[in-house]
Amino acid sequence: MASAAPLLIGLYQLSNYQATLLHFTILEQKWQFRSPVGNCSSTAIGLSLCSRNASLLLTLLLKKSSVIFRRRLLKMWMLRCRLLGAHLLGTKDDVIGCFEYYADLAEGLDAKQKAPISLPMKTFKSYVIREPIGVVALIVPWNYPLLMATWKVAPALAAGCAAILKPSELASVTCLELGEVCREVDLPAGVLNILPGLGPEAGASLASHPHVDKISFTGSTVTAVKIMTAAAQRVKPVTLELGGKGPIVVFEDVDIDKAVEWTIFGCFYTNGQICSATSRLIVHESIAAEFLDRLVKWSENIKISDPLEEGCKLGPIVSSGQYEKVMNFISNAKGEGATILYGGNRPKHLKKGFFVEPTIITDVTTSMQIWREEVFGPVLCVKTFTTEEEAIELANDTHYGLGGAVVSKDRERCDRVSKLLQNGAVWVNCSQPCFCQAPFGGTKWSGFGRELGEWGLESYLSVKQVTEYV
Ligand code: NAP
Repeated sequence: MASAAPLLIGLYQLSNYQATLLHFTILEQKWQFRSPVGNCSSTAIGLSLCSRNASLLLTLLLKKSSVIFRRRLLKMWMLRCRLLGAHLLGTKDDVIGCFEYYADLAEGLDAKQKAPISLPMKTFKSYVIREPIGVVALIVPWNYPLLMATWKVAPALAAGCAAILKPSELASVTCLELGEVCREVDLPAGVLNILPGLGPEAGASLASHPHVDKISFTGSTVTAVKIMTAAAQRVKPVTLELGGKGPIVVFEDVDIDKAVEWTIFGCFYTNGQICSATSRLIVHESIAAEFLDRLVKWSENIKISDPLEEGCKLGPIVSSGQYEKVMNFISNAKGEGATILYGGNRPKHLKKGFFVEPTIITDVTTSMQIWREEVFGPVLCVKTFTTEEEAIELANDTHYGLGGAVVSKDRERCDRVSKLLQNGAVWVNCSQPCFCQAPFGGTKWSGFGRELGEWGLESYLSVKQVTEYV
């Protein structure tokens, strides 16, 4: 197990998420732990959660702490002119990396304008102009709130759109702070607007508003249907980044420790509260017993505690509602005849808080709820397979199609399986890595349209052709 240790160290504590949010979340968590208000809790990696009043209070608190950050932004702003970065701790990979990336793409946009199109008739000449799509509504969920916002705000601003960002009421502080930063670096008033408010009120109003030209939404499939319905009334384009029930397919030729490590990472990272979590393990029958044995040993070593405690790997999940939901999934699985191989409860040493043990469920059938529906919690369900065809069939046996993983030493097999998985993202011999240069999005109930990469920028541009008779 030693070889796999580096990845697990900091798996939860030093995730890219925390790297961007630590500064804020420490303050938030302290506040939340003392707060008698609301039903919010924090997660191990510090989802920034709070009620509307808490948001205001915390924004005030945070003003003191981000001077260096803002100076940096100012410099970047002057350099880039069009974009700003939202950089809290110093990693280049996530929030600031995304802003920088789109700043570069924005610079390249001008060169692409009026590119001539080759036509079959010489009597005409034609070219294409890319224009900002207009006013865009950006609706984001509570998990990874600042990063999810960045994935939308950065390309929208790079495209020249004016944006209205609606964070989740469970996690609005970092987005409000982003708005503050924008104000301080003189982003013209009205270009980026942060609109906190409840989903069915603020979000729904945005979705149906006549002056909103496009909606980019990240959240649940249920909400997406409502947003799409509203958008359809005015024929508005939408980009939908929705839930998932990702498979991780593990073949018999793997290094078991490495594969276990990725399985743990893929499902328990950020408490499973990640859309692309690979929460269905599909493992070759010949290694299943040993694989599960080691999976349980790994899970036993995950420290569950108050996130501010040294060595914490897994904290509470986001809210009482989400806690109840996860627990119901587990008890329904038991009721349907599945076996809880590991976990399934609140850890005995924690009497309060929305803590759930990392949970591994076996004896699962494809008709069970636990196989079919997104839990959004630290719950892994397991099935075994005999042939490659069977593995692919199981992997695709879901309404969702966001992330999926294949683990094998056989390169050709990995290529074959990657091609056949019905997912917007396929990870080979890993799970979850995400880069702002590569497109991200889903198929089937996981949504459509792509964020990140050039595709993310294109989604905020409209294309106009100009054809001239010469
Ligand atoms: P959600 O309930 O659908 O909420 C998402 C956002 O929509 C929140 O800002 C919410 O506001 C707002 N909202 C709620 N009802 C609305 C309505 N009727 N009209 C307009 N907006 C409305 O999802 P969630 O529970 O926050 O997030 C978890 C889901 O997001 C999971 O399914 C997860 O897989 C998915 N997700 C997908 C991706 C991806 O990239 N594909 C990334 C992250 C998460 P309030 O919260 O303030 O009510």
